[in-house]
Amino acid sequence: MNIILFGPPGAGKGTQAKYLVKKLNAFQISTGEILREEIKKNTEIGKKISYNINDGKFVSDEIVNNLIKDIVFDIKKKDRLIFDGYPRSLTQAKNLNQLLDETKQKIDFIFFLNVNKETILNRIRKRKVLENRSDDDSDTIIKRYDTYMETTKPVLDYYSKNQNFKEIDGSLEIDEITRKIDTFINV
Ligand code: AMP
Repeated sequence: MNIILFGPPGAGKGTQAKYLVKKLNAFQISTGEILREEIKKNTEIGKKISYNINDGKFVSDEIVNNLIKDIVFDIKKKDRLIFDGYPRSLTQAKNLNQLLDETKQKIDFIFFLNVNKETILNRIRKRKVLENRSDDDSDTIIKRYDTYMETTKPVLDYYSKNQNFKEIDGSLEIDEITRKIDTFINV
């Protein structure tokens, strides 16, 4: 099963991705984590993207598309991909479609965890204390939320026509969201 978790920063995509990885013996593709790792290792990509990430802006489609290509093509991970934070633009969504076609895969579910701005801000403030992420300060959170809203609207329109697109209230408790996801995948 391949699944996309879609939703604003702080919607709980990472938490649900980790649950799905365990349940389905799958692999989490968190572009945010991959990018943070590049910064930590101070790679050429890391140097290019740190400004954007710390400023709450998106990293270029080209960089992100390149980073996920090998993972989608990895035969060991075939049909066990949990996308967390990708795709985030229409170009990325189309790129993913092409990579899946080329590798004879498809997306089984797109779960849209929908949460309002206020809930997000509260959650991310708490996460800042726990994880101390540099892009989790209040100004950056607001920018990240606004960037998400502007850029991902076309992605939402693109996927929401699909039968496997499922909107879930992301302001629910973690366990309740998990239960809802389970009702779709446990068939
Ligand atoms: P996340 O951990 O998913 O909240 O991502 C943290 C940051 O990484 C985002 O605010 C963006 O700057 C960058 N990022 C992560 N995924 C993507 C993506 N698919 N496209 C562009 N930028 C991304």
